[in-house]
Amino acid sequence: MTMSTAPRIDETSIAEALGAPAPDASRVRGILARAQELEGLDAAAVADLGRVEDPDLLEEIFTAARTVKETIYGKRLVLFTPLYVSNLCANDCAYCAFRSSNRGVVRKALTQREIAEETAALVAEGHKRVLLVAGEAYPRHDFGYVLDAIDTIYGVRGPGGEIRRVNVNVAPLETDQFRQLKERGIGTYQIFQETYHRDTYHAVHRAGRKMDFDWRLGAMDRAFAAGVDDVGVGVLFGLADWRFELLALLQHVAHLERRFGVGPHTISVPRLEPAEGSPLAAHPPHPVGDRDFRRIVAILRLAVPYTGIIMSTRESAAIRRETFALGVSQISAGSRTSPGAYAHPEAHAAEQFSLGDHRPLDEVVRDVAALGFIPSFCTGCYRLGRTGADFMDLAKPGEIKRHCDPNGLSSFLEYLLDHASPETLKEGLERIGAVLAELEGEPRRRAEAMLDAVHSGRRDVFC
Ligand code: SAM
Ligand code: SF4
Repeated sequence: MTMSTAPRIDETSIAEALGAPAPDASRVRGILARAQELEGLDAAAVADLGRVEDPDLLEEIFTAARTVKETIYGKRLVLFTPLYVSNLCANDCAYCAFRSSNRGVVRKALTQREIAEETAALVAEGHKRVLLVAGEAYPRHDFGYVLDAIDTIYGVRGPGGEIRRVNVNVAPLETDQFRQLKERGIGTYQIFQETYHRDTYHAVHRAGRKMDFDWRLGAMDRAFAAGVDDVGVGVLFGLADWRFELLALLQHVAHLERRFGVGPHTISVPRLEPAEGSPLAAHPPHPVGDRDFRRIVAILRLAVPYTGIIMSTRESAAIRRETFALGVSQISAGSRTSPGAYAHPEAHAAEQFSLGDHRPLDEVVRDVAALGFIPSFCTGCYRLGRTGADFMDLAKPGEIKRHCDPNGLSSFLEYLLDHASPETLKEGLERIGAVLAELEGEPRRRAEAMLDAVHSGRRDVFC
């Protein structure tokens, strides 16, 4: 059999899976028992879980997802923030305030000096991980702008430390451009297909290179071919039926696993939010309610247990609180979606969409800790070369205890000592004590030694 090289979404098989009769309780329980073996789920099982309406069975899905999340990720939640460098864009995505036909908005591409100022503001707040974001049009049409921006961000040293991992969310690139990203030392390359439903895709992408569905769908193949092995995929929920999107997304994941031996590092689950000048964003054609949103996270957690799930500040604090435990492993915090807004909150370049969670980083950290999680700023894996398939091996539960728990704790303590308000410091130290008490043996000894090192003034302690 020849191996296909380009991803292809098989809409017919998705329609068949979604057309099957609703599963009975014993089938659902069988699926959940299998999922708790941490081996993932096939398309038929995912379609079945998507059709469950009985509230008690739905609760069983949530409970199973919580168990898988706790087994694989423990108590950690990794924190990052987006850094929007430019809102110039040649595309016309019907849902986005940056789209080319949205003429009334203020456009801005930050200079490298301004990018350094934004970075310094984030470093001062305590961030260690940023996601560089841009529209698809660079000053002087030069992709070198993005490469320079990465260098600029990594180059900033402040009293509060430095950015240790730059992830990138920019439009799909040529293989050679991916190579250049890799050389710049990026963490994850991330891009969302927006919708895997081809007709819907064409209806909402009305100008520019983004009109080409297959060019976007093939981006991760080009990234892998260029050696970028941590990639992040996602769906913009609200454009098409979420059940269709889940099955199509999992086809994309399966394609990458078949072809490259490893799937995506992360999956993002943005929901459409209101955006200036976009009637479509205000009235999504397939709105996803809060219950279904939680179900999407839970089903993904069961279907691809070792893949990170990212939830952004598009969601309100309340929804975020209810959803973390179902499977989320990374969250953004203290975000702004207009270029320049960290260093100059009073400036008013257009923001991409409205946020649901406006709290500053310190408040999010305190809240997350009070909920029982360890807010982690760890960048250990990627800096020790544990990416792609190596990372997936490490994501196995035993390894988490050896590396990720101590790294999460030491990076959290560093944040608390250098940046936290007195209330957050108090809450955080209590949380560290409680989590440490649950560790045993070598992970506990290692965590204690790393925490001692941070207390005595060392920084960036990881294993
Ligand atoms: N411009 C590049 C692109 O589209 O590929 C980079 C990413 S874009 C700045 C970041 C993401 O924001 C998009 O992929 C899209 O999913 C999301 N987005 C756009 N408009 C949105 C809205 N109204 N609500 C929520 N997310 C939105
Ligand atoms: Fe441009 Fe990205 Fe917004 Fe589309 S989603 S208009 S490509 S910034």
